[in-house]
Amino acid sequence: MSQLPLPPATRTLGPGGVAISPIAWGMWRLAEGGRSAAEAAKLVHAALDAGITLLDTADIYGFSGPRPDGTTGFGDAEALLGEVLAAEPALRGRMVLASKGGIMPPLPYDQSAEYLNAALDASLRRLKTDCIDLYQIHRPDILAHPQEVARVLDDAVAAGKIRTVGVSNFTMPQIAALNQFLGNKLVATQPEISPLRIDCFENGELDQAMMLGLTPLAWSPLGGGRLTSESNDRERGVIAELDRVAAEQGVSRSVAAYSWLMAHPAGIVPIIGSQQAERIAEGAQALTVQWTRTDWYAVLVAARGVPLP
Ligand code: NAP
Repeated sequence: MSQLPLPPATRTLGPGGVAISPIAWGMWRLAEGGRSAAEAAKLVHAALDAGITLLDTADIYGFSGPRPDGTTGFGDAEALLGEVLAAEPALRGRMVLASKGGIMPPLPYDQSAEYLNAALDASLRRLKTDCIDLYQIHRPDILAHPQEVARVLDDAVAAGKIRTVGVSNFTMPQIAALNQFLGNKLVATQPEISPLRIDCFENGELDQAMMLGLTPLAWSPLGGGRLTSESNDRERGVIAELDRVAAEQGVSRSVAAYSWLMAHPAGIVPIIGSQQAERIAEGAQALTVQWTRTDWYAVLVAARGVPLP
Protein backbone atom coordinates (compact mmCIF):
# COMPACT_ATOMS: atom_id res chain seq x y z
CA MET A 1 0.00 0.00 0.00
CA SER A 2 1.35 3.41 -0.95
CA GLN A 3 2.82 5.12 2.15
CA LEU A 4 2.94 8.87 2.51
CA PRO A 5 6.21 10.29 3.88
CA LEU A 6 6.60 10.94 7.60
CA PRO A 7 6.79 14.63 8.52
CA PRO A 8 10.32 16.05 8.73
CA ALA A 9 11.86 16.82 12.15
CA THR A 10 11.75 20.55 11.40
CA ARG A 11 9.98 22.85 9.02
CA THR A 12 10.73 26.47 8.21
CA LEU A 13 8.71 29.66 8.16
CA GLY A 14 9.05 30.46 4.50
CA PRO A 15 11.70 28.96 2.24
CA GLY A 16 15.06 28.95 4.04
CA GLY A 17 13.51 30.86 6.93
CA VAL A 18 13.22 30.40 10.68
CA ALA A 19 13.29 26.70 11.73
CA ILE A 20 10.17 25.52 13.59
CA SER A 21 8.81 22.24 14.89
CA PRO A 22 6.35 20.58 12.50
CA ILE A 23 3.63 20.90 15.16
CA ALA A 24 2.87 23.97 17.27
CA TRP A 25 1.15 24.84 20.54
CA GLY A 26 -1.47 27.58 20.79
CA MET A 27 -2.43 29.76 23.75
CA TRP A 28 -5.94 30.87 22.83
CA ARG A 29 -7.27 29.26 26.00
CA LEU A 30 -4.23 29.97 28.23
CA ALA A 31 -5.75 32.79 30.26
CA GLU A 32 -8.99 30.91 30.93
CA GLY A 33 -9.83 29.85 34.48
CA GLY A 34 -7.42 32.19 36.29
CA ARG A 35 -4.30 30.17 35.47
CA SER A 36 -1.21 31.41 37.37
CA ALA A 37 2.14 32.20 35.73
CA ALA A 38 3.60 29.11 37.41
CA GLU A 39 0.87 26.95 35.89
CA ALA A 40 1.36 28.59 32.49
CA ALA A 41 5.12 27.96 32.78
CA LYS A 42 4.46 24.23 33.20
CA LEU A 43 2.58 24.21 29.90
CA VAL A 44 5.34 26.13 28.12
CA HIS A 45 7.86 23.61 29.46
CA ALA A 46 5.64 20.70 28.40
CA ALA A 47 5.63 22.01 24.83
CA LEU A 48 9.33 22.85 24.63
CA ASP A 49 10.43 19.63 26.35
CA ALA A 50 8.40 17.67 23.78
CA GLY A 51 10.25 19.50 20.98
CA ILE A 52 7.32 21.77 20.14
CA THR A 53 9.04 25.10 19.53
CA LEU A 54 6.45 27.18 17.66
CA LEU A 55 4.20 28.88 20.23
CA ASP A 56 1.19 30.80 18.94
CA THR A 57 -0.70 33.54 20.76
CA ALA A 58 -2.58 36.77 19.92
CA ASP A 59 -3.31 40.07 21.59
CA ILE A 60 -7.02 39.27 21.75
CA TYR A 61 -6.59 35.89 23.48
CA GLY A 62 -8.16 36.17 26.90
CA PHE A 63 -10.73 38.75 25.78
CA SER A 64 -14.13 37.99 27.24
CA GLY A 65 -15.92 41.35 27.18
CA PRO A 66 -16.41 44.00 29.84
CA ARG A 67 -15.99 42.76 33.42
CA PRO A 68 -17.18 44.36 36.66
CA ASP A 69 -13.65 45.62 37.38
CA GLY A 70 -13.49 47.46 34.04
CA THR A 71 -11.04 45.05 32.36
CA THR A 72 -11.91 42.94 29.30
CA GLY A 73 -9.28 40.24 29.26
CA PHE A 74 -7.75 41.68 26.07
CA GLY A 75 -4.02 40.96 26.18
CA ASP A 76 -4.28 38.52 29.08
CA ALA A 77 -2.82 35.50 27.26
CA GLU A 78 0.15 37.52 26.01
CA ALA A 79 0.63 39.05 29.47
CA LEU A 80 0.63 35.62 31.10
CA LEU A 81 3.29 34.39 28.68
CA GLY A 82 5.20 37.62 29.36
CA GLU A 83 5.21 36.78 33.07
CA VAL A 84 6.51 33.30 32.28
CA LEU A 85 9.31 34.79 30.17
CA ALA A 86 10.18 37.40 32.79
CA ALA A 87 10.53 34.69 35.44
CA GLU A 88 12.61 32.45 33.17
CA PRO A 89 14.22 34.54 30.40
CA ALA A 90 16.10 31.55 28.95
CA LEU A 91 12.80 30.16 27.66
CA ARG A 92 12.57 32.93 25.06
CA GLY A 93 15.55 31.56 23.13
CA ARG A 94 14.03 28.07 23.03
CA MET A 95 10.83 29.14 21.29
CA VAL A 96 9.72 30.65 18.02
CA LEU A 97 7.15 33.16 19.24
CA ALA A 98 4.12 33.87 17.08
CA SER A 99 1.47 36.45 17.88
CA LYS A 100 -1.29 38.32 16.10
CA GLY A 101 -2.95 41.71 16.01
CA GLY A 102 -5.43 43.68 13.95
CA ILE A 103 -8.70 42.96 15.75
CA MET A 104 -9.94 45.98 17.68
CA PRO A 105 -11.85 44.45 20.58
CA PRO A 106 -14.48 43.23 20.51
CA LEU A 107 -14.83 43.98 16.78
CA PRO A 108 -14.34 45.17 14.06
CA TYR A 109 -10.90 44.88 12.53
CA ASP A 110 -8.40 47.71 12.28
CA GLN A 111 -5.21 47.57 10.26
CA SER A 112 -4.67 51.29 9.85
CA ALA A 113 -1.03 52.21 10.39
CA GLU A 114 -1.87 54.01 13.60
CA TYR A 115 -3.77 51.08 15.13
CA LEU A 116 -1.41 48.34 13.97
CA ASN A 117 1.76 50.11 15.14
CA ALA A 118 0.23 50.69 18.56
CA ALA A 119 -1.06 47.09 18.74
CA LEU A 120 2.38 45.67 17.93
CA ASP A 121 4.12 47.84 20.52
CA ALA A 122 1.54 46.79 23.12
CA SER A 123 2.09 43.09 22.28
CA LEU A 124 5.85 43.50 22.69
CA ARG A 125 5.33 45.19 26.06
CA ARG A 126 2.97 42.48 27.33
CA LEU A 127 5.18 39.67 26.07
CA LYS A 128 8.22 41.36 27.63
CA THR A 129 10.28 40.72 24.53
CA ASP A 130 11.87 43.01 21.93
CA CYS A 131 10.96 40.86 18.94
CA ILE A 132 8.07 38.64 17.83
CA ASP A 133 9.32 35.91 15.48
CA LEU A 134 6.08 35.63 13.48
CA TYR A 135 3.61 38.52 13.55
CA GLN A 136 0.30 37.65 11.95
CA ILE A 137 -2.58 39.86 10.88
CA HIS A 138 -5.38 38.07 12.72
CA ARG A 139 -8.32 38.80 10.39
CA PRO A 140 -8.37 41.00 7.31
CA ASP A 141 -9.54 44.62 7.66
CA ILE A 142 -11.48 45.26 4.49
CA LEU A 143 -10.99 49.01 4.94
CA ALA A 144 -7.19 48.86 5.07
CA HIS A 145 -5.25 49.18 1.82
CA PRO A 146 -2.81 46.25 1.66
CA GLN A 147 -0.06 48.67 0.63
CA GLU A 148 -0.49 50.56 3.89
CA VAL A 149 -0.53 47.32 5.91
CA ALA A 150 2.59 46.12 4.07
CA ARG A 151 4.39 49.37 4.85
CA VAL A 152 3.69 49.02 8.57
CA LEU A 153 4.89 45.41 8.55
CA ASP A 154 8.00 46.24 6.49
CA ASP A 155 8.88 49.04 8.90
CA ALA A 156 8.38 46.71 11.87
CA VAL A 157 10.75 44.15 10.31
CA ALA A 158 13.31 46.89 9.59
CA ALA A 159 13.01 48.12 13.20
CA GLY A 160 13.68 44.57 14.47
CA LYS A 161 10.27 44.37 16.19
CA ILE A 162 9.20 41.35 14.15
CA ARG A 163 11.22 38.76 12.25
CA THR A 164 8.64 37.44 9.81
CA VAL A 165 5.09 38.19 8.70
CA GLY A 166 2.01 36.00 8.39
CA VAL A 167 -1.74 36.26 7.97
CA SER A 168 -4.73 34.42 9.34
CA ASN A 169 -8.24 33.99 7.95
CA PHE A 170 -7.36 35.84 4.74
CA THR A 171 -8.96 34.95 1.42
CA MET A 172 -6.64 33.93 -1.39
CA PRO A 173 -6.87 37.30 -3.19
CA GLN A 174 -6.22 39.10 0.11
CA ILE A 175 -3.11 36.96 0.63
CA ALA A 176 -1.93 37.64 -2.91
CA ALA A 177 -2.47 41.40 -2.58
CA LEU A 178 -0.64 41.78 0.73
CA ASN A 179 2.16 39.50 -0.42
CA GLN A 180 2.59 41.57 -3.58
CA PHE A 181 2.96 44.80 -1.61
CA LEU A 182 5.31 43.01 0.81
CA GLY A 183 7.61 41.99 -2.03
CA ASN A 184 6.75 38.32 -1.43
CA LYS A 185 7.84 38.36 2.19
CA LEU A 186 4.78 36.60 3.66
CA VAL A 187 5.89 33.34 5.26
CA ALA A 188 2.75 31.86 6.85
CA THR A 189 -1.00 31.63 6.60
CA GLN A 190 -3.25 30.43 9.41
CA PRO A 191 -6.65 29.11 8.31
CA GLU A 192 -8.89 26.74 10.23
CA ILE A 193 -8.02 23.20 9.13
CA SER A 194 -9.04 19.90 10.71
CA PRO A 195 -10.49 16.59 9.62
CA LEU A 196 -13.83 18.34 10.17
CA ARG A 197 -12.85 21.55 8.32
CA ILE A 198 -11.50 20.44 4.98
CA ASP A 199 -12.33 23.37 2.66
CA CYS A 200 -8.70 24.32 2.06
CA PHE A 201 -7.84 20.89 0.62
CA GLU A 202 -9.96 21.56 -2.43
CA ASN A 203 -10.54 25.34 -2.62
CA GLY A 204 -6.99 26.26 -3.63
CA GLU A 205 -5.79 27.74 -0.31
CA LEU A 206 -3.14 25.08 0.24
CA ASP A 207 -2.14 25.18 -3.42
CA GLN A 208 -1.61 28.92 -3.08
CA ALA A 209 0.44 28.35 0.09
CA MET A 210 2.69 25.90 -1.77
CA MET A 211 2.99 28.24 -4.72
CA LEU A 212 3.95 31.23 -2.55
CA GLY A 213 6.10 29.22 -0.10
CA LEU A 214 3.80 29.94 2.87
CA THR A 215 3.75 27.61 5.85
CA PRO A 216 0.12 26.73 6.62
CA LEU A 217 -0.57 26.77 10.36
CA ALA A 218 -3.81 24.92 11.13
CA TRP A 219 -6.00 26.48 13.81
CA SER A 220 -8.44 24.28 15.76
CA PRO A 221 -6.94 21.04 14.38
CA LEU A 222 -9.40 19.01 16.46
CA GLY A 223 -12.31 21.20 15.37
CA GLY A 224 -12.08 23.08 18.66
CA GLY A 225 -12.47 19.77 20.51
CA ARG A 226 -15.42 18.45 18.48
CA LEU A 227 -13.29 15.55 17.27
CA THR A 228 -13.07 14.32 20.84
CA SER A 229 -16.85 14.03 21.25
CA GLU A 230 -18.90 12.82 18.33
CA SER A 231 -22.29 14.40 17.78
CA ASN A 232 -23.53 13.68 14.26
CA ASP A 233 -23.17 11.09 11.50
CA ARG A 234 -20.49 12.99 9.62
CA GLU A 235 -18.38 13.42 12.75
CA ARG A 236 -18.90 9.77 13.68
CA GLY A 237 -17.70 8.75 10.21
CA VAL A 238 -14.53 10.85 10.43
CA ILE A 239 -13.81 9.65 13.94
CA ALA A 240 -14.22 5.99 12.89
CA GLU A 241 -11.58 6.41 10.16
CA LEU A 242 -9.18 8.25 12.51
CA ASP A 243 -9.71 5.68 15.27
CA ARG A 244 -8.92 2.80 12.92
CA VAL A 245 -5.51 4.26 12.05
CA ALA A 246 -4.92 5.39 15.64
CA ALA A 247 -5.47 1.81 16.88
CA GLU A 248 -3.21 0.33 14.20
CA GLN A 249 -0.38 2.72 15.07
CA GLY A 250 -0.89 2.80 18.84
CA VAL A 251 -1.68 6.50 19.19
CA SER A 252 -4.67 8.55 20.35
CA ARG A 253 -7.34 9.92 18.05
CA SER A 254 -5.97 13.46 18.55
CA VAL A 255 -2.50 12.37 17.48
CA ALA A 256 -3.98 10.63 14.44
CA ALA A 257 -5.81 13.85 13.55
CA TYR A 258 -2.67 16.00 13.83
CA SER A 259 -0.68 13.52 11.76
CA TRP A 260 -3.39 13.40 9.10
CA LEU A 261 -2.96 17.15 8.60
CA MET A 262 0.84 16.85 8.65
CA ALA A 263 0.80 14.27 5.85
CA HIS A 264 -0.38 16.89 3.34
CA PRO A 265 2.38 18.04 0.97
CA ALA A 266 1.87 21.72 1.90
CA GLY A 267 3.57 20.94 5.24
CA ILE A 268 0.62 21.84 7.46
CA VAL A 269 1.68 22.68 11.03
CA PRO A 270 -1.24 21.87 13.38
CA ILE A 271 -1.56 24.17 16.40
CA ILE A 272 -2.39 22.03 19.43
CA GLY A 273 -5.08 23.79 21.45
CA SER A 274 -5.03 21.75 24.65
CA GLN A 275 -3.97 23.46 27.87
CA GLN A 276 -3.12 20.17 29.58
CA ALA A 277 0.58 19.31 29.80
CA GLU A 278 0.18 15.60 28.97
CA ARG A 279 -1.98 16.32 25.93
CA ILE A 280 0.45 18.96 24.64
CA ALA A 281 3.41 16.60 25.00
CA GLU A 282 1.45 13.74 23.44
CA GLY A 283 1.05 15.82 20.27
CA ALA A 284 4.70 15.24 19.39
CA GLN A 285 3.86 11.58 18.71
CA ALA A 286 2.27 12.77 15.49
CA LEU A 287 5.73 12.81 13.94
CA THR A 288 5.80 9.02 14.08
CA VAL A 289 2.47 8.27 12.40
CA GLN A 290 2.66 7.23 8.79
CA TRP A 291 -0.43 7.35 6.59
CA THR A 292 -1.20 5.27 3.57
CA ARG A 293 -2.78 7.09 0.65
CA THR A 294 -5.88 4.89 1.03
CA ASP A 295 -6.36 5.64 4.75
CA TRP A 296 -5.72 9.35 4.21
CA TYR A 297 -8.38 9.56 1.53
CA ALA A 298 -10.78 7.51 3.68
CA VAL A 299 -10.73 10.32 6.30
CA LEU A 300 -11.21 12.94 3.58
CA VAL A 301 -14.14 11.06 2.06
CA ALA A 302 -15.78 10.66 5.48
CA ALA A 303 -15.35 14.41 6.02
CA ARG A 304 -16.71 15.26 2.56
CA GLY A 305 -19.74 13.10 3.19
CA VAL A 306 -19.77 12.22 -0.52
CA PRO A 307 -17.45 9.93 -2.47
CA LEU A 308 -14.59 11.24 -4.58
CA PRO A 309 -15.68 11.98 -8.15
P1 NAP B 1 -8.25 22.20 19.08
O1 NAP B 1 -7.07 21.32 19.29
O2 NAP B 1 -9.09 22.00 17.89
O3 NAP B 1 -9.19 22.14 20.36
C1 NAP B 1 -8.65 22.16 21.64
C2 NAP B 1 -9.78 21.90 22.63
O4 NAP B 1 -10.08 20.50 22.62
C3 NAP B 1 -9.35 22.25 24.06
O5 NAP B 1 -10.44 22.88 24.73
C4 NAP B 1 -9.05 20.89 24.66
O6 NAP B 1 -9.31 20.84 26.06
C5 NAP B 1 -10.07 20.02 23.94
N1 NAP B 1 -9.73 18.60 24.00
C6 NAP B 1 -10.57 17.64 24.45
N2 NAP B 1 -9.97 16.44 24.40
C7 NAP B 1 -8.72 16.64 23.91
C8 NAP B 1 -7.64 15.74 23.65
N3 NAP B 1 -7.72 14.44 23.88
N4 NAP B 1 -6.50 16.26 23.14
C9 NAP B 1 -6.41 17.59 22.91
N5 NAP B 1 -7.42 18.48 23.16
C10 NAP B 1 -8.58 18.01 23.65
O7 NAP B 1 -7.65 23.67 19.06
P2 NAP B 1 -8.19 25.14 19.50
O8 NAP B 1 -7.90 25.32 20.93
O9 NAP B 1 -9.56 25.37 19.01
O10 NAP B 1 -7.18 26.02 18.64
C11 NAP B 1 -5.78 25.76 18.68
C12 NAP B 1 -5.00 27.01 18.48
O11 NAP B 1 -5.29 27.56 17.21
C13 NAP B 1 -5.31 28.16 19.46
O12 NAP B 1 -4.66 28.02 20.71
C14 NAP B 1 -4.78 29.33 18.69
O13 NAP B 1 -3.38 29.41 18.81
C15 NAP B 1 -5.16 28.96 17.26
N6 NAP B 1 -6.43 29.58 16.83
C16 NAP B 1 -6.36 30.57 15.91
C17 NAP B 1 -7.51 31.18 15.43
C18 NAP B 1 -7.38 32.23 14.39
O14 NAP B 1 -8.35 32.90 14.05
N7 NAP B 1 -6.19 32.43 13.85
C19 NAP B 1 -8.77 30.78 15.90
C20 NAP B 1 -8.83 29.75 16.85
C21 NAP B 1 -7.65 29.15 17.30
P3 NAP B 1 -8.09 20.68 27.13
O15 NAP B 1 -7.40 22.01 27.19
O16 NAP B 1 -8.84 20.36 28.39
O17 NAP B 1 -7.22 19.57 26.67
